[in-house]
This record gives sequence, C-alpha cells and structure tokens, in this order.
Amino acid sequence: MTDSRRAFLAKAAKITAVAATAAVLPTALAGPASASAHSYYFFCTKCFGMTVGVITPPGGLNICPAGGNHTQAGYNFILPYNVSETANAQANWRLCQKCFSLFWRGYPTDGVCATGGGHDSGPDGDQQSFFHNFVLNHDVPPGPKSQDAWRFCVKCYGLFFFGYSTNGRCPAGNEHKEAGFNFVLDHL
Ligand SMILES: [Zn+2]
Ligand SMILES: [Zn+2]
Ligand SMILES: [Zn+2]
Repeated sequence: MTDSRRAFLAKAAKITAVAATAAVLPTALAGPASASAHSYYFFCTKCFGMTVGVITPPGGLNICPAGGNHTQAGYNFILPYNVSETANAQANWRLCQKCFSLFWRGYPTDGVCATGGGHDSGPDGDQQSFFHNFVLNHDVPPGPKSQDAWRFCVKCYGLFFFGYSTNGRCPAGNEHKEAGFNFVLDHL
C-alpha cells in the first residue's frame, strides 16, 4: 500500500461520522442570502470531485462519472459565497444540479457533466438553494483547518483533488487534468 493510499484511507475512516450526519440534513436546507458560507461539501473517493453532501438538491441526480452516485469521505468543506473576488479568491464556482459536483461557470460553455451535456447550475440569483456563487481561496498557505491541492479540470471544468498519484475519473474521459490556481479550501 502506498503512503498516499494509506493516508487517504485513514482520513476517510476518521470523517465517516461527519459524512453520515450531513446525509440526513433536510433537502430544503439553505442559508439566507446574507450568509457567507455553506458547509455541506465533500471529496468523492471515486471521481475525486468536490460534491455536495446532501440527498437531493432541486432537480438533482447525484451521478458520479465513475459510475453510480458519488461516494463521499474525508473533510467536511466550508465554501464561501457572495463575497468579493480578490487576487487570491476566484468567483463563479457553482454546484451542478445534475451531477452534484462543483464546476467553474466562467466560460461561455459549461464543461462536461457525468449526466451528459454540460454542467447546469440552475437559475441565476437563486439564493434559497444550493446554487450560490461560490468564491474559492487560492494560492494562500493552508492552515490546520484548510486543505490545498484542489484544482480546476480543463476537460470537464470541475474542481478536483490533485493530492494523489492518480487524478480520479473525469466525465470527459480518463482522469481529470489540472490547470490554473491551487485552491485552498476551509473545512470543519
Ligand atoms: Zn464522484
Ligand atoms: Zn454536472
Ligand atoms: Zn475533469
């Protein structure tokens, strides 16, 4: 067993209880428009994407590009939204209501979704759901309550964890391909 695999398994086991708690949260749960962070996001052990840890956002399908539904483990991430973009924080990260993964909606097209076609973040301005405009920190030193090595995939436009020797499963085929900023994400 490689060191990275061993570390991954240890981390997955440690946070299982947290993931189980998130899975029973009400489906309508939402922060008010004035809230600044949403804390129901988890790594998927199959595709390595950032996925929402609740059962059914409106219209959601929860489809993993590696097959079946996402399998969540590890840290419970807290994603800021509706805050200003800065030199070290990028806006336009959205939740796809079809595959339940985070993707960057800053291009004219919306990448490749595991459900077919591009990702779909739903209607703009819907602050009573999961479809916030998330603003993610990047290229800052990670602290005890944050994790770096989260990257944009140039093939599917998703956010994935680049900290292992392999790069998960990309809905555009094979593994994800990293580019751009090194995102540093807060967790509980
Ligand atoms: Zn997945
Ligand atoms: Zn999608
Ligand atoms: Zn990808």
